[in-house]
Amino acid sequence: MAIISTDKYTAKPSDSQDWVIIESSDGQTIDVELRLMDYHYDCIPKIISQDGKEAYCSQFCCYTGCYVTPKEIKEVQKILPEIKSFLQKDAINLLKKTKDQIFVPDDYDKEEDLYKTRCSPEEWIYDDEDDEEENGGDDDDEDGEEEDDEDGEDEDDEEENGEDYEEENEIEFPPSNHCIFLTKDGLCATHKYYVEHGMDWVKKKFNICTTFPIDIRPQDKTLAFMDEFDTFTFADVDCISSDEKHKKELGMPQIIESMKYVIVDRYGEIWWQALSDFAKDFRQKKVTVRKIYHDTSIKE
Ligand code: SF4
Ligand code: SF4
Repeated sequence: MAIISTDKYTAKPSDSQDWVIIESSDGQTIDVELRLMDYHYDCIPKIISQDGKEAYCSQFCCYTGCYVTPKEIKEVQKILPEIKSFLQKDAINLLKKTKDQIFVPDDYDKEEDLYKTRCSPEEWIYDDEDDEEENGGDDDDEDGEEEDDEDGEDEDDEEENGEDYEEENEIEFPPSNHCIFLTKDGLCATHKYYVEHGMDWVKKKFNICTTFPIDIRPQDKTLAFMDEFDTFTFADVDCISSDEKHKKELGMPQIIESMKYVIVDRYGEIWWQALSDFAKDFRQKKVTVRKIYHDTSIKE
């Protein structure tokens, strides 16, 4: 097995050529997705505009809420009375209705043991639809729209058509839906609370919101790219654009540098240094996939 070693890191083959195992000088090994080695990213919240309208970019990345663990739910329940004053009116109303339940039980992900935070006001619309279904009132049937689908348009065909898919998934500008914790000025209420109270937001804030757009799983010893960004990818936000050249022109740093704080928090400074050194060598082609995998039968 090919093992590439320097005084800062050791790189070993993983289970796929898209990944590499990086070991730091203190013996910690983490399986890393190679896409991260050359991806520019930085979260610099800003106002974006479209057709003369303006919105905070966070209105897009926070518009469907986020997935949270039962432990995180308990933690945020403790500060809920204090952060309510930061929340938007529709979020307060939603919490009144749900008796301060900040998550949606129906959206529970069994495999990951995660709940979805509540969103408003979109959830009211879902609730209305649910009520209609429970009452047996299906407007689509009455309008004949369902029949049209059966007779003519094949939904799968529509989805395969990129343009239709994009149109269906395009979100309004600015989006009316938002995570209950998104404040009127585009900030996260929990983040604001932790910072204002001198608390370590990197440890305290919901994991998924802290690590976005990378997926850090200390329980599996992995570091990967979050692939599913939901439909906000259609909005004009630079941070997760797939145009690396454009992001470079904007002066965006490599994600390994800009997300150093959270990688260090989860895996320590020594391992981050090993990762950063490997990434530099990888970008300069001093280390290549071919070199790492040359004597293995492992494919992409
Ligand atoms: S992640 Fe991107 S879209 Fe979200 S607040 Fe940061 S810069 Fe804006
Ligand atoms: S908890 Fe905060 S960062 Fe996460 S989705 Fe909601 S508003 Fe955004």
